Amino acid sequence: MLFPMSLNNSLDFRFIYDHFDTPITGLDCGNKCAAFNQTLAPFCCDTHHAVPSAYPEEWEFLKTNTDLWRKWHNPTKDCASHLDHEKPEGHILIECKGHQYCQRSFRSITCRSFPFFPYIDHDNQFIGLSYYWQYADRCWVISNLHKVTMEYRIAFITNYDLLFRHKSAEKDIYRYHSVVMRRVFGRKKMKIPILHRDGKTYQIVPKSCSLIPVDPICFPKYEPFKTVHNLPFPDEAE
Ligand code: SF4
Ligand code: SF4
Repeated sequence: MLFPMSLNNSLDFRFIYDHFDTPITGLDCGNKCAAFNQTLAPFCCDTHHAVPSAYPEEWEFLKTNTDLWRKWHNPTKDCASHLDHEKPEGHILIECKGHQYCQRSFRSITCRSFPFFPYIDHDNQFIGLSYYWQYADRCWVISNLHKVTMEYRIAFITNYDLLFRHKSAEKDIYRYHSVVMRRVFGRKKMKIPILHRDGKTYQIVPKSCSLIPVDPICFPKYEPFKTVHNLPFPDEAE
């Protein structure tokens, strides 16, 4: 499968969205995390916690086809310039109307990917999904990796394989992020969780980069979800 290109050689985001539309788990994970947010919004839908970004072509598609999104405006100038500096070059910071008004078919790639990013190993191979560890205290999915469906993993990997083929500079962004993760986890003597493209799950030892197979139920759980894990809701019963 290839991303179809339009006549001016830009990516077709309708096609991309339609092929990366699988929910992460069988549950609505927003219901799991929102109760812990003061605003009662899922954390990844609250710009106090996470500001989505869009590729330039994606922003063109969104602003032409929906009124859901606008460019992100931050009241505090310092924070705005900090995020402008941190975002990948050329990407546009955006915000939607709010989780009550979500239009699922117009969620951005960042909405569909969160909390995951494509992990690039020391040999520059995109080997699978790891997560934005900074959100471990807010994102329920990070503490419930065993709930991530294989269908979602395949859709994620297919999406980024093809995105990297068409936008090779994107891979460099995630390679850098993966290097930072190895440094951070190495310092903390933690292993990096990987939902591998081979369908299995592993922990990576940051120093040696060796892969240790692991049952995903054994991945670490973080508060407040660690406590909740021991008191599962009826709909979570295995
Ligand atoms: S991906 Fe994480 S932060 Fe976003 S709604 Fe699901 S649990 Fe909440
Ligand atoms: S578009 Fe939907 S999923 Fe994305 S940030 Fe807005 S409410 Fe959340």
